[in-house]
Amino acid sequence: MTSFCHDIKENLIPKEKYHSMNKNCCWQTILFAFFTFKNYHFAENNKIEIKIEELFLVRLLEQSLKNLKIDYLKESNLSLNNKIINHFIVDSDIFTNNTAHLTILPKNKCCRIYWLKIAFLCIGYLSDPNKNYHLEFVSSLNNIENIKLILAEEEIESKYYQKANDSDNYILYIKKSDDLIHFLGIIGSNKYLLEIENVRIEKGIRNHLIRQINYESANIEKTIESSVKYIHAIEWSIENGFFNELPENLKEVASLRVKYPDKNLRELCELFEKPLTKSGINHRLRRLYGIIQKEKSKVI
Ligand SMILES: [Zn+2]
Repeated sequence: MTSFCHDIKENLIPKEKYHSMNKNCCWQTILFAFFTFKNYHFAENNKIEIKIEELFLVRLLEQSLKNLKIDYLKESNLSLNNKIINHFIVDSDIFTNNTAHLTILPKNKCCRIYWLKIAFLCIGYLSDPNKNYHLEFVSSLNNIENIKLILAEEEIESKYYQKANDSDNYILYIKKSDDLIHFLGIIGSNKYLLEIENVRIEKGIRNHLIRQINYESANIEKTIESSVKYIHAIEWSIENGFFNELPENLKEVASLRVKYPDKNLRELCELFEKPLTKSGINHRLRRLYGIIQKEKSKVI
C-alpha cells in the first residue's frame, strides 16, 4: 500500500533528475548522509556494510557510489517478511579512517539541502495532510539537533523529545501547516506542497463557513430572544390597557416589533416612515421595556 509519505519520498529525487545533479560535493553529501541516517557496520577486511530496503534509496546510494567512482559490492537477499534487502559493501577508507564528519553538517548550502532530503528519505515521516499536519524525524540526539539547526536557519519551528523507552532516539516534529509547506518547498517537493496547500485552503474555507454559520445562527437566536422579550412586554401593556398611555414614538416602535417579530434591528429600521438608526430603535425599545416593567411592578 502506498501512502502520502511514500509517494513524496519516491518522487523527491527521481532518477530522471540524477543527470542534472552535477556537483560532486552534493553527491559526497548524499553518500555520507546515508551513513549518518542508516545503520551500518564494519565488516571483515576493512569493509563497511550498509543495508537499504526502499528502492528509491537503493538507486540513489548506488548512483552516488558510481558518480564518486567508489568500488562497491551489492548483494540482495529476502528478509523474513519477503522484502528485498540490499547490502552495499564498500572499503572503509571512504571515510578516510574517520567517521567523525558524519556527525557534522555539510558547509555548502547546496549540500545542506541534499543532506536534509536524505534525512527526510531515511528517517522522516509526513502524515496525510487530509488527516493532520505532522512531520517527524526519528534519530540520534546529534542528528536531531543538526536537523533542528538547518530548519531554524530556514525559520522553521521544530521541537523534539526523547522517544519513550528508547534512550538512543529522539523525535523531532513540525506541526504548523505553514512550516510544513515551507519544508516541502525547501526540499523541492513542489507537487506535494501544492497538494497540502489545496487541502489547507479547503479546510480553511470549511472552517470559515462553519464559523460563519455558527455566528449567524447565534445572531438569529439573539434576535429572536430579544424580540420575544419585547413582544411579551408589549402584549402585557395592551392586555392591561397601558399601551395607549405610551408616547407616540414608542407606540410606533412597539407596533412594528409585534408585527414583525422575526426581523432584526437593521431590518426594522427600514420599516419606519422617518429614517431611524439601529441604535435609535434599540434605545426606544429599551425605554419602552423599562416603562412597561415599571408599570408592571406597580400592578403586581
Ligand atoms: Zn553541494
